[in-house]
Amino acid sequence: MKNLFKKISTVSLLLTSFLCFSQPQVISDNNITLLQQEVLKKLTGKLPIKNDIYIKQRASPEEREITANYLSEYLASIGWQLENHFYRTSNGNPLLDLCLQPMSGINVAAVLPATIKSNKYILFGGHYDSERDCPGAIDNATGVALSLAVAFKLTKLKERNINFLIVLFDQEEDGEFGSIAYAKMLRKTNREIHSVHTIDMMGWDQNHNYGIEIELPSKELKELYESNAKEYNIPIYSTSVSSSDHKSFIDEGFNAVGISEEYVKRDTTPFIHTAKDTYETINFEFLVSSTNFIFNIFKKLAQ
Ligand SMILES: [Zn+2]
Repeated sequence: MKNLFKKISTVSLLLTSFLCFSQPQVISDNNITLLQQEVLKKLTGKLPIKNDIYIKQRASPEEREITANYLSEYLASIGWQLENHFYRTSNGNPLLDLCLQPMSGINVAAVLPATIKSNKYILFGGHYDSERDCPGAIDNATGVALSLAVAFKLTKLKERNINFLIVLFDQEEDGEFGSIAYAKMLRKTNREIHSVHTIDMMGWDQNHNYGIEIELPSKELKELYESNAKEYNIPIYSTSVSSSDHKSFIDEGFNAVGISEEYVKRDTTPFIHTAKDTYETINFEFLVSSTNFIFNIFKKLAQ
């Protein structure tokens, strides 16, 4: 009987360690959840974004400007140096530009300088605009909330050997106008860009595997993300999805990657670009886990 008990406990111990090993190592953080809940409520019209203004979408020029101001104020409040990028993009034909307004908008951009002198930058961010008649909670208020939380956590690092540049893009939903304009402008500066990481949709994880998709990663970034995912036992896979802001940077020759929930594997919000893409559908555990996963990669790169 005793032996049998011993055998059973050995088997259950082995089983438990096997199960523990196969579980994703989820990194939770209550303060980050609270921050992201507040940001997401303001971006989706559940809390006023300013005074008594509630926004139901981030699509019109006015709504996008209010959103850009809110994001800028937050970044300045945690010590990032604002350098917002205002762009006007031609419709490709002067006559068309006379009839239609040229595309124009604001990319919210800010720098957190390295603690040593450096001309190297890591760029990260995601688009803040939404489709019309859509609260755009998962697409892409979650990418914005992830980026802001990473920005906050980076300020707490005592040593950073590289500069960080956050860019929250305008007009992705209209055809990536914001990120295209930004990537073209950035190419002309003398800044040395180590890598570009754009996040689009990070709030759906129905199969609870904390899985992440990396889109069109460079060889170097694919290896970087895969080795870190292995460490946390998070499933990761790369795809050739090109329909977001990372493509704008790849086209200009930058070392870039797009990061998302499991879009190709269809563990992704079924409510994309509809009125049902609401705050209530966000999986915060997944969002926080992904936030910390990406932050830890940046932390290693900064050391
Ligand atoms: Zn999007």
